[in-house]
Amino acid sequence: MARSGTQQGFDLHTHSVFSDGTTRPADIAREAAELGLTGFALTDHDTVDGWDEARAAARTAGIEFLPGIEITTKHAGRSRHLLGYGIDPAAGELFAALAEVRRSRLARAQEMVRRLSADYAITWESVVGEEDARTVGRPHIADALVAAGYFADRSTAFAEILHPASPYYLGTHAIDTLEAIRLVRAAGGAAALAHPAAFRQRTPTGAQELRAFAAAGLWGVELDHPENRADWLPPITATAAETGLAAIGSSDYHGAGKPNLLGERSTDPALVQLLRERVATPR
Ligand code: AMP
Ligand code: FE
Ligand code: FE
Ligand code: ZN
Repeated sequence: MARSGTQQGFDLHTHSVFSDGTTRPADIAREAAELGLTGFALTDHDTVDGWDEARAAARTAGIEFLPGIEITTKHAGRSRHLLGYGIDPAAGELFAALAEVRRSRLARAQEMVRRLSADYAITWESVVGEEDARTVGRPHIADALVAAGYFADRSTAFAEILHPASPYYLGTHAIDTLEAIRLVRAAGGAAALAHPAAFRQRTPTGAQELRAFAAAGLWGVELDHPENRADWLPPITATAAETGLAAIGSSDYHGAGKPNLLGERSTDPALVQLLRERVATPR
């Protein structure tokens, strides 16, 4: 790979083929080591199934691994992604809620594909392929449309027909953000709000909202993320400081599925050490 040895710290937000990334957990571990990163967290959407592979590959590659997840949540009608670190994979209440999210994602994706197949020659098989264990989402539908030749890449498919205003679009079940924070904490984990000022959102996370999340036990907020809008960040940064939230940075790497580059944003290893000390599954 062209980039190597220039990055440092932890990349705390990455996706693999266990959700909507295009690379395996072991590939992320190898690439992170090549870049010179201290370590990385695997944060697939609504699943921890990639942890074992990531952990083993990190050991082989000689870098650190932090177990994570990105949970599909919503608050006051708005989609909010919640990162959870160090949760106990045996925590029943949290994993029952996640199973419900994945069930809903499956039914929703099947119905979106049914609607799309009236106008585009795609099938359910072309969307899920052989990876039937992963968390399915719009990115997989986008990939099938790209493979069938309708769009150049995932982002174009999203912009053209997979966005929320599209007639083919359907929402999916999400856990209320306050409840998800509670579930992550009850599972021995630490919760961080992902991309609070992402440009794709209609509005950024508000100060009042962030205060409510902090009061519910939020640990951190992803102030450094390639999709955060600089002009939306100041009140979020100020509220994070006021409420004592940890500031994390990460790339939201999706392999070839998004332009985000592994390690392009990172978190100080000293902060990750503090994080490890407070969670049930620190490695
Ligand atoms: P879903 O959770 O199934 O509604 O799909 C949302 C996921 O699609 C997000 O987590 C992103 O990874 C990805 N995504 C959203 N918008 C875009 C876009 N414009 N281009 C590429 N990927 C996107
Ligand atoms: Fe994603
Ligand atoms: Fe996200
Ligand atoms: Zn993500």
